[in-house]
Amino acid sequence: MGAPTTPATIRAATTEAHQRFQDLKEGQNASYIPVLARVQPERFGLVVITADGQAAEAGDTRSEFAIESISKVFTLARVLDEVGAEVLQKKVGDNPTGESFASVHALVVHDGKPLNPFVNAGAIATVSLIPADSAARRWEKIHETVCAFAGRKLEVMDEVYRSESATNQHNRALAWLLDSSHTLYSDPMEATDVYTRQCSVGLTTYDLAVMGATLAAGGINPLTRQRAVKAEHVPRILAEMTMSGLYDNTGTWQYEVGLPAKSGVGGGILAVVPGRLAIAAFSPPLDRFGNSVRSQRAIRHLSEALGLNLFAATAGASPPTR
Ligand code: GLU
Repeated sequence: MGAPTTPATIRAATTEAHQRFQDLKEGQNASYIPVLARVQPERFGLVVITADGQAAEAGDTRSEFAIESISKVFTLARVLDEVGAEVLQKKVGDNPTGESFASVHALVVHDGKPLNPFVNAGAIATVSLIPADSAARRWEKIHETVCAFAGRKLEVMDEVYRSESATNQHNRALAWLLDSSHTLYSDPMEATDVYTRQCSVGLTTYDLAVMGATLAAGGINPLTRQRAVKAEHVPRILAEMTMSGLYDNTGTWQYEVGLPAKSGVGGGILAVVPGRLAIAAFSPPLDRFGNSVRSQRAIRHLSEALGLNLFAATAGASPPTR
């Protein structure tokens, strides 16, 4: 069983997890998006924020990196709020594909149904479901939602957006495949562009933790007190994160860590303990599945040190105390 989660124990465990893994030299930056290959591999930030807004930070927590796939969580939130869970279940799906995040095969064998909103095809289809009369309006809505979760205005990192736009042929192909199966609901190239834009949003590890704390608090940002998503949709988002958040290594993650989480090829990982807290970590070098090596280790360490594994009988026994 972990130590009681007082602010002091959370701070001590955060500092310890950061120290323990900062010299770890495993993994490689994502290189299929050229600009990500150039991010300094030493960068490493770790932040815990409780559902009532208390923060513990260690390392590089206030400089920006690209949100990448973690953006899929917040677009999902917006679409759930706008079109509802049933439409999303029917048109995108809610199950793991068992294949890599950009798999064409998974799409083809399921007649064009992407199965979940966290694989690239599912994320592009999810973007296309946002009711809007133009791509600009669709983007505006997504942007509004990520900013509500973060509690501040986040901006697209232009260099990342340009680099991704120049190299996203595979995602464009996925969009056309969706379109050919009638499982895309806006213009394919516009949907891909909005998706690429959402992946290029810059944020800090601290921002990411605020976004997670908003989910931990049932959809209300603990710093701004603004609602970012309807409370009834938070369990669905966390369920998706539990099933498909760490690409095709999600099962192993749940076996070892036991927390809903979402990672991105920029090196970020966000993990949420419902009702209690969020952990955000950032470090660019990735394992072969596309998950940040240091971020995974640091979150696992915190899960063990603070007794956060949701599948353990003791989880939730010691809520955060002031
Ligand atoms: N923009 C990236 C892509 O579409 C995001 C991938 C990721 O973070 O998993 O490939």
